[in-house]
Amino acid sequence: MSKRVVILGGGESGVGAAVLSKVKGFETFLTDSGHLKDEHRNTLNEWKIPFEEGGHSEELVLNADLVIKSPGIPETAPLVKALHDRDIPVISEIEFAGYYDTAKKICITGSNGKTTTTSLVYYLLKNAGLNVGLGGNIGQSYAYQVATSNHDIYVLELSSFQLDGMYDFKADIAVLMNITPDHLDRYDHCFQNYINAKFRITRNMNPDDCFIFCSDDEVTIGELQKIVVKAKMLPFSQEGKVSDGAYVEDGVMHVSYEGECFDMLVSDLAIKGRHNVYNSMAAAIAGKVMNVSNESIRQSLTTFKGVEHRMEKVLSVGGVLYINDSKATNVNSTWYALESMTSPTILILGGTDKGNDYQPIADLVKEKVKAIVCLGKDNRKIIDFFGDKVVAETGSAAECVAKCAELASEGDTVLLSPCCASFDLFKNYEDRGRQFKEAVRKL
Ligand code: ADP
Repeated sequence: MSKRVVILGGGESGVGAAVLSKVKGFETFLTDSGHLKDEHRNTLNEWKIPFEEGGHSEELVLNADLVIKSPGIPETAPLVKALHDRDIPVISEIEFAGYYDTAKKICITGSNGKTTTTSLVYYLLKNAGLNVGLGGNIGQSYAYQVATSNHDIYVLELSSFQLDGMYDFKADIAVLMNITPDHLDRYDHCFQNYINAKFRITRNMNPDDCFIFCSDDEVTIGELQKIVVKAKMLPFSQEGKVSDGAYVEDGVMHVSYEGECFDMLVSDLAIKGRHNVYNSMAAAIAGKVMNVSNESIRQSLTTFKGVEHRMEKVLSVGGVLYINDSKATNVNSTWYALESMTSPTILILGGTDKGNDYQPIADLVKEKVKAIVCLGKDNRKIIDFFGDKVVAETGSAAECVAKCAELASEGDTVLLSPCCASFDLFKNYEDRGRQFKEAVRKL
């Protein structure tokens, strides 16, 4: 194994990788072109790991035997190209941690629903009394946990960027929620490249492993006609019956795995909406594969609180329910949010547009939305598309919530599900969601 390990990027995953590298006895160095958060700087100092910030010293990087790259740094970055030219292996934190981890790994990817499903699977296994860790794109990094704890199972949320840097890693259970075009700027504007990245989650699997996937997803099914996945195939569907896997019929979710069955009313699921039925089905299959009892699966699926900023019920004020779905930064996510609305809705749209086409939500808006309130700097595209439905443009969460409160009548829902990124007015989608909630609480 290599001697000098260099970590590019000092975020959560990079610092975790540095700690693991140090624990494994490698000469370790971390470099970041920007500035580190205090907590990360402290961790590096605590572990006596040398690092630099505010720029990369080439000579300290190009002498590496192995480089662990943050998923945020594109392959096209000059330093990454220079590493490739010198045949220095560049891998992801997940790949590196996988070398030292013998725990069972449940890995979840997809264009939408990753965080919700990962959190739900973790909750379900934890409730069943298993010694499980949560990592990947969520919370504490996987590498840090491999370095410092001793879990029997990990539930990992994996983005396509993380999967790109994975070669020998193997998931015991891989879950693919869906594939819709996203991040194409990082994939040469070629959808197939993005599909290939997502399917890397099935690399190295063998017939004892399980592949859980959505058989209603045309892109996934199209790809499965072209390639062979060596694992046990466990589809989930809301459109047709499946034998092993999960499906819905007459309001009942049926799950089966190797002759064992589990049934539950869809109306009893804690998280609502058609998309969350998919998320719950995927989690229930993973639970069955992990031998969790039906009673325990049922208990978890009926009590899971959901994840902050994803269809999060904030408060009812004067009979008007406020929902924070700030994480809905693309049209597809907002489609699912609107689909689950059962009362007249005031919809908050706007922010940084990533090339949106609003056509997919046009019918739902016509059917369910009373008025659109914009929350963004440049709302022209939304106004051009939705015309009279747009009744106000606002430039802060407080102004926006006040306007919605003025427009809403008892029984209505105010839904922040903006289809757009948040960077024009907020630090990130979490900041947008928190400011929204704060403004609602002050009403
Ligand atoms: P991700 O981690 O993949 O971004 P999240 O679980 O954070 O996904 O959910 C983000 C948003 O995506 C949610 O607010 C919801 O609107 C939508 N969503 C969640 N699950 C699904 C799903 N299975 N299919 C489509 N959209 C979904």
